[in-house]
Amino acid sequence: MKAHNGMYIDGAWRPAAGRDTIAVVNPADEQVIAEVPAGTAEDVDAAVRVARAALPAWAATAPAERAARIAALRDVLVARKDEIAETVTAELGAPLPFSQAVHAGVPVLVAGSYAERAASYAFEEKVGNSTVYAEPVGVVGAITPWNYPLHQIVAKVAPALAAGCTVVLKPAEDTPLTAQLFAEAVHEAGIPAGVFNLVTGLGPVAGQALAEHEGVDLVSFTGSTAVGKQIGATAGAAVKRVALELGGKSANVILPSADLAKAVAVGVANVMGNSGQTCSAWTRMLVHTSQYDEAVALAAEAAAKYGDRIGPLVNAKQHARVRGYIEQGVAEGARLVAGGPEAPREQGYFVSPTVFADVTPEMTIAQEEIFGPVVSIIRYEDEDDALRIANGTVYGLAGAVWAGDEAEAVAFARRMDTGQVDINGGRFNPLAPFGGYKQSGIGRELGSHGLTEYLQTKSLQF
Ligand code: NAD
Repeated sequence: MKAHNGMYIDGAWRPAAGRDTIAVVNPADEQVIAEVPAGTAEDVDAAVRVARAALPAWAATAPAERAARIAALRDVLVARKDEIAETVTAELGAPLPFSQAVHAGVPVLVAGSYAERAASYAFEEKVGNSTVYAEPVGVVGAITPWNYPLHQIVAKVAPALAAGCTVVLKPAEDTPLTAQLFAEAVHEAGIPAGVFNLVTGLGPVAGQALAEHEGVDLVSFTGSTAVGKQIGATAGAAVKRVALELGGKSANVILPSADLAKAVAVGVANVMGNSGQTCSAWTRMLVHTSQYDEAVALAAEAAAKYGDRIGPLVNAKQHARVRGYIEQGVAEGARLVAGGPEAPREQGYFVSPTVFADVTPEMTIAQEEIFGPVVSIIRYEDEDDALRIANGTVYGLAGAVWAGDEAEAVAFARRMDTGQVDINGGRFNPLAPFGGYKQSGIGRELGSHGLTEYLQTKSLQF
């Protein structure tokens, strides 16, 4: 696969300061497909300086012009969507149709939404005898994971650019090729040099250097809760703005009045998409005791149907980790009704779609984020019991509620400690705020809420 042997800084591909490289591996066949430079603190420093130098001019650019550049970026993402989908499939392993529809498709919607928002947002308002200005926070350090490699970049960079911020991006080491493609798209869209910069590299080296850099005004991080805590602490010590999108262990609550077959089928599909590597996946299915056996049978059947259509996990480490969780589920007494810890193929980091029954709320597989194609079905006795189980983890990113009556589902959803809930299979909305309660994070991405993360307010009194 095509790769740049440099960092995108100040509108050009510059050689890295060091010589180390990162091998990019195709998780479907374990072959090395490219190498990219492993950036150091020196590369990060160069990129931050350039982003700071570019800030005054970009912040002063009229919102309509910023909107036009973001619209041009969206157009490049549309024009290059096949290449994007193929690249995501090669380095993440997602099946091509999923890469086309989701990995290449959703970023187009999000970039388009911020082109519109930049043009229409009220960056200035009157409050009594004051004028209140929404000004860009400054230089953004964006650190992204590999599971939705382009979406997570666009969900940070598009609102940051709309707000008038400049950006240094450190993408995940497993998926740097998608990030390089994005940098090419930024270039083609005519976004001025220095406004967006890319440094590829390892998390504890380049990522940490970016999070700690005193020239960064806001760190926007998506990834694991463990690293998020560290980044939050670093930002706190420097009194720096921070946005954290972290892990999840979301509940799919099926109330007795729901369409059980549909709720189970959609619930299983929600977890299996992207091979279970979705932070907001509904990995705990909560079913009333009267419908439990039927739900288990339906879920096992739905998972078995997935068979070969599921992609591999991203790397060998995740492969070992997820299989370890499945073994632990068995050891703790959960009952396997589909899949299991055995690798279904000799080559590639594949795990079979797996369903556990007889999972109790305190089991490890019901508490910790597995990040693989594993559904745990948990029994509840009544609504209060369901709510206690749904809210009984350290996470609060997403969830689902199914009921015969929408109002009944909404009443339950309002009691859940979580950032977003899909009612009876409600569709993904790229304008709805996305983010977590509790240890799932701080701040929101997407839509207007996502834009305000990159703004700070100034009031002038008259
Ligand atoms: P990770 O935390 O290891 O890595 C995420 C990013 O942080 C990568 O770019 C990595 O290089 C970087 N990083 C790692 N250590 C760092 C450090 N010490 N300092 C600075 N940067 C560092 O997570 P991952 O394994 O890549 O992603 C999986 C996790 O991300 C899962 O827990 C998942 O739930 C979470 N996630 C959350 C969301 C969300 O929106 N809430 C979205 C996707 C993934």
